[in-house]
Amino acid sequence: MRLGGPARFVVSVRRPEEVAEAYQFAEEQGLPTWALGGGANTIGRDEGFPGVVILNELKGVEIVREVGDAVQVKWMGGEVWDDAVAWACERDYTGIEALSLIPGTVGAAPVQNIGAYGQEVGQVLVSVEAYDRRERRMCMLRRDEMGLGYRRTRFNTGADAGRFYIVSVTLELKRGQMQPPFYNSLQRYIDEHQETDLSPAGVRRMVCAIREAKLPDPRKEASAGSFFKNVIVPAEQVAEMEARGIPVRRLEDGRGKINSGWLIEACGLKGQRLHGFRVSEQAALVLINESATSYLELTMARAEIVGTVEAKFGVRLEQEPVEMIA
Ligand SMILES: Cc1cc2nc3c(=O)[nH]c(=O)nc-3n(C[C@H](O)[C@H](O)[C@H](O)COP(=O)(O)OP(=O)(O)OC[C@H]3O[C@@H](n4cnc5c(N)ncnc54)[C@H](O)[C@@H]3O)c2cc1C
Repeated sequence: MRLGGPARFVVSVRRPEEVAEAYQFAEEQGLPTWALGGGANTIGRDEGFPGVVILNELKGVEIVREVGDAVQVKWMGGEVWDDAVAWACERDYTGIEALSLIPGTVGAAPVQNIGAYGQEVGQVLVSVEAYDRRERRMCMLRRDEMGLGYRRTRFNTGADAGRFYIVSVTLELKRGQMQPPFYNSLQRYIDEHQETDLSPAGVRRMVCAIREAKLPDPRKEASAGSFFKNVIVPAEQVAEMEARGIPVRRLEDGRGKINSGWLIEACGLKGQRLHGFRVSEQAALVLINESATSYLELTMARAEIVGTVEAKFGVRLEQEPVEMIA
């Protein structure tokens, strides 16, 4: 988001044992810590971070198991997520091709259970290897121990938020291709371009094209991707929302998912400039930093959007990116 002051210390970890050393260093100094990957989903405060930022630079990829059409691949947490997707697609493995071009590291992917165009990393996660700060030792967490939900997991929610520093991630991928029904915008692209190549590499190419047309390139325009989470409403509220003209996508468990970008657009905020930020004209969920230099400006832009949507629809938007606070 191109905001935030400096950190007191930044420690790069390049070997798994250095993670424990970094936390020990912070403890000796009596300082708070912050796990950082690529920073794509992290917002800095103006005062900076008064402690130790532990930067994930753990690299490597290895196939740990191959049975029939399935393969388990372990990536070290500091690998670039999109390189992992490219690796899988080049080898014709399906499971993460729709997650192409999501900025950031592999180690951060399970933290908010990244998702896009009908796939979530949680669907293919086998385990993560992590440093458990509470027990002060390395541990292995299986998929069913991660509390996976929509942008929520045990890593970012509840008593264990921030407890684990993810060192490596093992995913199970399969030879084959994504099966319909496809996510609306992906299906629209397939229809409009008469696409027939639904191989992992083909879907990756389509997703990259959709994202490049719709989302600001983080190297050119500062943003945190989707600034608001989509809204999940309980099953008993779905009919009421639909009666008010709000499009609701029904989830398997009966709850409804409302596209927050739709709500923002319906309030006439798309393309609007607010306190140095611009609501993206391609994707209203994305807030682009045009000229803001302070966190305060972000809070003002955010308050205006949240307040306008709440006044019109009675729905309160929740911020997706995390804030770097001690
Ligand atoms: C243009 C753009 C588009 C985006 N599109 C999507 C999208 O389609 N779908 C989606 O889900 N997200 C999307 N995002 C958000 C972002 O890419 C993801 O959240 C990504 O996983 C962030 O990775 P990172 O390495 O940059 O994480 P960071 O921002 O560095 O960290 C994010 C959080 O994870 C924690 N963390 C980081 N590394 C570790 C670790 N090794 N162990 C434990 N905790 C850790 C941090 O403390 C922080 O709480 C987008 C962002 C941008 C800028």
